[in-house]
Amino acid sequence: MAIVGGGYSGLWTARELKRRDPSLSICVVEKSVCGFGASGRNGGWASALFPVGTDALVARYGPEQFSHLRWVLEGAVPGLGAATSDDGIDAHFIQGGTLVFARNALQAQRLHTSVEASRRHGVAEHDLAWLDADEARRRGSLSNCYGASFTPHCARIQPARLARGLSDVDEALGVEIYERTPVTRILPARRGRRAEVVTIGGSVHADYVVRATEGFTPSLPGERRTVTPFYSLMIATEPLADAFWDEVGFNHYETFADDRRLIIYGQRTNDNRLAFGGRGAAYHFGSTVEERFDHDHRVFGMLEEILRELFPTLTGAVTHRWGGPLAMSRDQMPFVRVDHETGLASAGGYTGDGVVLSRVAATALADLLTAPDVETDFTRLPFVQHRSRRWEPEPLRWLGINTAIVLATWADRTEQRRGVEGRASRWFERLAEASLGDDE
Ligand SMILES: Cc1cc2nc3c(=O)[nH]c(=O)nc-3n(C[C@H](O)[C@H](O)[C@H](O)COP(=O)(O)OP(=O)(O)OC[C@H]3O[C@@H](n4cnc5c(N)ncnc54)[C@H](O)[C@@H]3O)c2cc1C
Repeated sequence: MAIVGGGYSGLWTARELKRRDPSLSICVVEKSVCGFGASGRNGGWASALFPVGTDALVARYGPEQFSHLRWVLEGAVPGLGAATSDDGIDAHFIQGGTLVFARNALQAQRLHTSVEASRRHGVAEHDLAWLDADEARRRGSLSNCYGASFTPHCARIQPARLARGLSDVDEALGVEIYERTPVTRILPARRGRRAEVVTIGGSVHADYVVRATEGFTPSLPGERRTVTPFYSLMIATEPLADAFWDEVGFNHYETFADDRRLIIYGQRTNDNRLAFGGRGAAYHFGSTVEERFDHDHRVFGMLEEILRELFPTLTGAVTHRWGGPLAMSRDQMPFVRVDHETGLASAGGYTGDGVVLSRVAATALADLLTAPDVETDFTRLPFVQHRSRRWEPEPLRWLGINTAIVLATWADRTEQRRGVEGRASRWFERLAEASLGDDE
């Protein structure tokens, strides 16, 4: 078995397979070092979130599949904590839940409506609750608080500790890890030859090759339109004084966001920093991924401005800035695929929710690879053996995605300043509906 990519997807898959059958010969081929990708530098929300929203999921797959997916994901959050403690990885896992704040009347109305809609789809109060402004402030105090939704199904982690810990665990289990080894091509089984991973220094032939390259996938031959890389950027402050935390709370390390369109996300780290990130970086023509895109001073400035607006008493300096690519498939569905004829397998497309989803995907992959004919709780998830259609060719892709980013930024500004849903909001909603409405 050969796995391309040493992020959570690749490393969990190797761990899962080795624990089931220690005699399996497994290698992980990583172009940089394990954890170099999104796995080593994400926002550390180990959540039960899924990239496709509740209404769309129920409409596409029905209420039973929706409940099953929720059950698996909600169980996978403490499951990740248990697996890391089994393996002796201290990834600073604390399950304190997530607060999504409403910071104007429109956000309050939207959030409240979405909590009610979830209730209609069977989501209980203890899984997702609406907190009024006073209750929300008691847990975490942000400026302009109109209330918040709270779900207990999220843990805060330190992402790089998880990625590096997993690579150590894999090595101890006997997985061979080849770092600084870029893969140039992945070839299917053909004419009696097994599937193949090609690198500059040599090839690996294997019964199965698992592609776990997420945001970097478009750089591989033939994969330019499989997923789109989106850049998410982050900043972190210096460790903040106890007086600051006494005032703002987050005593249970709840992760936090607000309900703007351009996603933001934050956490209180183990050493009492604020680690805070968001979208808004431009999409690069041709799905190009380059290390220089990890730094965008306009976005870093915007993030710091938002952070200081959320916490007006924050005086601590921002000491760290970084970013990286995540991957979105055309219909926003993640995928786990195994083709037993070609020996090619893949997992990814988690958008910004891959911390827990990658482990769920790895379990599904291991189920499909070790017992192809047995249906399990994981193989019957709606994204297993799912194929999203390909993204549009350029320049349509560039035009569509960057227009959506500009509209979302504009819509958030209008809402925050004028308290109304302006034209940009309506255009953004229409663009989102039109682009998602024609999926398979
Ligand atoms: C800034 C940021 C914040 C995020 N925050 C969150 C969050 O809070 N919660 C959440 O759930 N998700 C979050 N995500 C998404 C999450 O981190 C990813 O979904 C998840 O880590 C994906 O894991 P992966 O192993 O599939 O991909 P990656 O971790 O990206 O790993 C892919 C690996 O493949 C390697 N690779 C690529 N091409 C080749 C090649 N040709 N040859 C060899 N190796 C190759 C890369 O070097 C990389 O190590 C965030 C992402 C980013 C960028």
